[in-house]
Amino acid sequence: QAKIKGKGQVYEFQAGMETAVQERHDLELDLRAALGRSELRIYYQPLFDVSGVITGFEALARWPHPTRGMIPPDRFIPLAEETGLIVPLGEWVLKTACGVAAGWQSDVSIAVNLSPTQFRRVDLVNTVMKTLEETGLQPSRLELEVTETLLMEDVPKALALVRDLRALGVRVALDDFGTGYSSLAYLHNFPFDKVKVDRSFINKITNDPNAWTIVESIIVMSHKLKLRVTAEGIETGAQLSLLAEHGCDEMQGFLLGRPMPESQASSLIESLKNLHSVS
Ligand code: C2E
Ligand code: MG
Ligand code: MG
Ligand code: MG
Repeated sequence: QAKIKGKGQVYEFQAGMETAVQERHDLELDLRAALGRSELRIYYQPLFDVSGVITGFEALARWPHPTRGMIPPDRFIPLAEETGLIVPLGEWVLKTACGVAAGWQSDVSIAVNLSPTQFRRVDLVNTVMKTLEETGLQPSRLELEVTETLLMEDVPKALALVRDLRALGVRVALDDFGTGYSSLAYLHNFPFDKVKVDRSFINKITNDPNAWTIVESIIVMSHKLKLRVTAEGIETGAQLSLLAEHGCDEMQGFLLGRPMPESQASSLIESLKNLHSVS
């Protein structure tokens, strides 16, 4: 394909490739080192019920890079996936987040994202079980977020895994709902506890009637299937009230709370406890 282009273009194309490959390689080495030096961080984003009570936090990985600044997970999680680093990274997130949540004098839940590679590992159920034992976190306080792409690869195997995880007493949520392919079949066949409606729908519900029709239908359908519904990416009061009026169970978004470092999440929990004991 490169040959049919002019000579200069071929050269340019290859040079560009080399740079991208080199950069990716550099980033991979950096990520490996960062993991080894425990430089990754977890931020915690609060989730609320309709009455404004915190129900839990979602653990979101962050990479404060010494020279490139804060690298968002959308950049390093795919890289970690491709290189296999996601396995130690994912285990670190799980263990750290469960440990932190176990230390909170509160029964709020902690949600941890699982990547396809983690999900494919035969020892996932064992890893989760051991993590719960080691951290002392009550299984019912752990929620694992999975995406459709992860379930698609091998449906019978994924189904068995979700069942085994739930048998441990942890909850399983279907994340980014609406962005995948055959969503309805998954909702129907898998024993999820919760559906998280993707941000790309939520940010359109107050100005795109079709987007709202879809979200409203997801809420109705999920409730009939005995699933709880979380809306992610709520940024305006109008979105919040529309969702609350229509029975959405749980709210997440910058309007209500951004992902925050552990210390802030802990003080938020403490301040809410004081509020309750005063009233
Ligand atoms: P996600 O699991 O769907 O997480 C929600 C994302 O939406 C987070 O982005 C969060 O900061 C963002 N968000 C929440 N509310 C709002 C809002 O109101 N407006 C906007 N614009 N964004 C909002 P984040 O932290 O950048 O994470 C992106 C994705 O990276 C996550 O999407 C998840 O798929 C992945 N990820 C993050 N941490 C981990 C991890 O530890 N393991 C795995 N496997 N994936 C992770
Ligand atoms: Mg998530
Ligand atoms: Mg999500
Ligand atoms: Mg999302």
